[in-house]
Amino acid sequence: MSGAHGMIRSIRELDLAGKRLFIRVDFNVPLDKKTGAVKDDARIRAAIPTIALARAAGAKIILASHLGRPDGAVVPALSLKPVAARLAQLLGAPVQSADDCVGEAVQAQVAKLAGGDVLLLENLRFHAEEEENGEAFSRALASLCDVYVDDAFGTAHRAHASTAGMVAHVAQKGMGLLVAQELKHLRPLLENPPQPYIAVLGGAKVSDKIKVIDQLLGKVDALLVGGAMAYTFLAAQKIAIGGSRVELDKLDVALRILEKAKSANVQVLLPIDHVVAADLKSTSGEVQSVVAEKMLGLDIGPKTAALFAEQIIGAKTIFWNGPMGLFETPAFAAGTKAVADAMVRATALGALTVVGGGDSAAAIAQLGLAEKVSHVSTGGGAALELLEGRELPGVTALEQ
Ligand code: AMP
Repeated sequence: MSGAHGMIRSIRELDLAGKRLFIRVDFNVPLDKKTGAVKDDARIRAAIPTIALARAAGAKIILASHLGRPDGAVVPALSLKPVAARLAQLLGAPVQSADDCVGEAVQAQVAKLAGGDVLLLENLRFHAEEEENGEAFSRALASLCDVYVDDAFGTAHRAHASTAGMVAHVAQKGMGLLVAQELKHLRPLLENPPQPYIAVLGGAKVSDKIKVIDQLLGKVDALLVGGAMAYTFLAAQKIAIGGSRVELDKLDVALRILEKAKSANVQVLLPIDHVVAADLKSTSGEVQSVVAEKMLGLDIGPKTAALFAEQIIGAKTIFWNGPMGLFETPAFAAGTKAVADAMVRATALGALTVVGGGDSAAAIAQLGLAEKVSHVSTGGGAALELLEGRELPGVTALEQ
């Protein structure tokens, strides 16, 4: 990777044979509350190509991750040990686990590693210094290894000890295959993406997405807005939204965005019909062109879905973040499915189609369509911050 950014070496370019290789992975997986077993191993599977490459190169592999929010305390329920077990199954090789991520016992375990061995450290966030990016802790992590590789795109927007602080203290550094994939697909969206370029935004809140919208308005030809977020834009224009979810303190922000879009010549498409129901627990809905009093808009309606699909299919670059409705309930999932289907069709027609993490990634995976778009990001927050034009500390740290 070069250009406006400093050069970042790929793990393929690093000298790994016999070296102690520290890989920051994202093993922040959901665990079953009762059994403690790994409930969804997608993030573990996403790291396998990098780990397999490192094993084949004969590195002594030290893996590190956070899991949940232990906030600097040792929380046994957030131990990475169940992850080690699942990783061993997926790799078809033994995975050792450590009781901590720094200290003498860990040093001794690392010293015994042979080329190709894999050791998973304990949860980094059992130490408060991880999120504080503490200097002593950063040095303690760095002392474990000769080479540092970051493959945790999901935490690349955080300046933590394992993503930023330790990197300066390691002689060789680079990115794993997953981070390389993410940058390869996300950076072109900031440069000169093929036009028409449209962004489809949904989800719960405008407030989470103000900065990304501001940045996108300078780049996109159209902005399609669905999900609960759309009701803040409609309410700002005094269009009735019944009892739909809305951010009343963001009406002025919504108006400013609409004004800015107008002067930038960016079309903003809002829902022209809705699937509504009496409450969030409803299991069926009805279509209305304007949300009636006391009703809640819980999905974009069929006319809106068709309009959005037409726009998506006609575009050359599409970025999508956020579901179009309460997609967890099947009665309100049609709008999100229509957007996912249109993304797949646009991809088949040669468009660059990118799904930015979080709920939209979960939705497209649930529909079995993740393989049929150009890229599904593993990092919701990191992908949005990159599109906001911000530096990601975890990426900047890797620049030579
Ligand atoms: P976010 O985390 O901002 O991507 O928001 C995703 C959440 O917003 C999902 O749980 C959706 O079910 C929810 N959501 C989307 N549209 C609506 C809506 N119209 N009303 C209520 N919740 C919604």
